[in-house]
Amino acid sequence: MSDFDGTLAPIVVDPGAAWPLAGVVPVLSRLAGALGLVGVVSGRPVGFLRDRLAGAADSLVLVGLYGLEWSERGELRADAEAQRWRPAVAEEAAAAARRAPPGVTVEDKGLTFTLHARSSPQRLAWVEDYAAAAARRSGLAAHPGRLSVELRPPVEIDKGTVAERLSAGRTAAGYLGDDRGDLPAFDALARRRGEGVATLSVAAASAEAPPELLAAADLVVDGPPGILALLAALSARTAPP
Ligand SMILES: [Mg+2]
Repeated sequence: MSDFDGTLAPIVVDPGAAWPLAGVVPVLSRLAGALGLVGVVSGRPVGFLRDRLAGAADSLVLVGLYGLEWSERGELRADAEAQRWRPAVAEEAAAAARRAPPGVTVEDKGLTFTLHARSSPQRLAWVEDYAAAAARRSGLAAHPGRLSVELRPPVEIDKGTVAERLSAGRTAAGYLGDDRGDLPAFDALARRRGEGVATLSVAAASAEAPPELLAAADLVVDGPPGILALLAALSARTAPP
């Protein structure tokens, strides 16, 4: 299982301009043929992941919006409880887009939305304050990320519950991530390890990487290039000759 942004794809100022590193798609495709399951678990909508991972997408389990929507063998599904929040998300995303100062962008993902301060990091305090107020007003839950805050339906689904579901019944499982939102997946694998499953939690390091993520990882590699090298090495060992 792997996160997308900051793990398979370098972080860029415009979130719409993020692409996986060259080589990622073919290596995921090879791994999907060799391993029991390869999943990409992201805060992005599944449609975005499908576009960015075209060529491998049909062989992957794609989990979007931190587990609120997913696709296996091309069929898209969304969590029923989260669906009820779609109108509240649309209303709050539109309000945020109207009120956001220059330098703050609003990424509307349908079932969630994200306030980004990446092009103006000095606006992060505005983003945090606005997100907290929007959460109080709407009942949505605020989740901090790298120079961003995301508003999501208050349902008990995160990358941890996803990692738990995708690793169920497996003898081995790994998870690659770069941000706070990936920590619950590391925790889920730690619980699996307690059950005798072989697990590996890998952090893609960057100047912004949360120290608690690096501390919780079994292995720390240097950003997306380090992740790609790891996947290539894994593929060389597992792919059929
Ligand atoms: Mg990430």
